[in-house]
Amino acid sequence: MAPIDLRSDTVTLPPPDMRRAMAAAELGDDVFGEDPTVNRLEQRAARLTGKEAAVMVASGTMGNLLGILSIARSGQEVITEAGSHVFMSEGGGAATLGGIQLRPLVSDHGVLHPDAVVAAIRPTDDIHQPLTAAICVEDTHNRAGGVVWPLEALAAIRRVADEHGLAVHMDGARVFNAAVALGRPVAEIAAAADTVTFCLSKGLACPVGSVLCGSAEVIARARRWRKMVGGGWRQAGILAAAGLWALEHMIERLAEDHANAQTLAEGLAELPGIEIDLGTVQTNIVRFRLLDRDPRAFVADCRTRGLLGGAQGAAGVRFVTHYGIEATDVQRALEVCSDVLAA
Ligand SMILES: *Cc1c(COP(=O)(O)O)cnc(C)c1O
Repeated sequence: MAPIDLRSDTVTLPPPDMRRAMAAAELGDDVFGEDPTVNRLEQRAARLTGKEAAVMVASGTMGNLLGILSIARSGQEVITEAGSHVFMSEGGGAATLGGIQLRPLVSDHGVLHPDAVVAAIRPTDDIHQPLTAAICVEDTHNRAGGVVWPLEALAAIRRVADEHGLAVHMDGARVFNAAVALGRPVAEIAAAADTVTFCLSKGLACPVGSVLCGSAEVIARARRWRKMVGGGWRQAGILAAAGLWALEHMIERLAEDHANAQTLAEGLAELPGIEIDLGTVQTNIVRFRLLDRDPRAFVADCRTRGLLGGAQGAAGVRFVTHYGIEATDVQRALEVCSDVLAA
């Protein structure tokens, strides 16, 4: 039997109809602005997120990098969350390539408190300190366990940004999961942000790709940065076609992933030696702690029984549900966890 792979929603493979759409894509040279499929994807992404313009990029990391480089300058600071992907998992790109310092703040399950953000904004009349340029939010928040920002919390960050003349960048790698969980259009979520990036290559099951959306002016700057980091590409329509197909067919089904994650989390909560905060299981990510076991050993034991997951830190384990994982797989995963804990 094939293993049940719950390591990440990045392991999703393109559905057959997505592959057919890729094979049939109309193509051109995107550096010349002539790939009609890329252009269509960018227009569609801009419309969906309620922004003027968009640029397709290779990855979420590239989208965040270009977003930050386009709203902050060398020597400036961007407020982030301490467990955020931009701060923890993007190789220090904004610092290396942009001379931009990230300022990590502790949060409540990934959701920044507006007072904490206000307190972290640098005074403009003290030459010792860098100037704050922007605030970065992550929705859903990966390390917090796929937690969705309440719309009021996003609006509060927007108000703080407006009061202090700051930009807001949203790392919306899984913003469609947030939209499905809230039952709201993605544009309503993205309204709090000047720039938003989302991944096509996670729950939406595309092989490659992310999109950065924002004002025409900011996206024009991002295109220049994209070229500089080697991200100008040619017949990328073959990838954009997958993205267009996914935006049509893969968003609503994320609800299945959320239901599977819920079942998985509730099942895990019943098992001895597991500590799980069910309140954080809001989308497709399930994080839990092992009370008396090394997570690496647990994950290795699961692997020998055909279940793949990820060990995180001293006690944490992460499972992610996604396209290709069915309710029966969740039941089998729970059996494996139960067997491993009993062994
Ligand atoms: C995966 C992820 C990214 C980066 O996406 P890549 O395509 O892997 O570079 C950014 N932010 C969050 C929250 C993510 O989960």
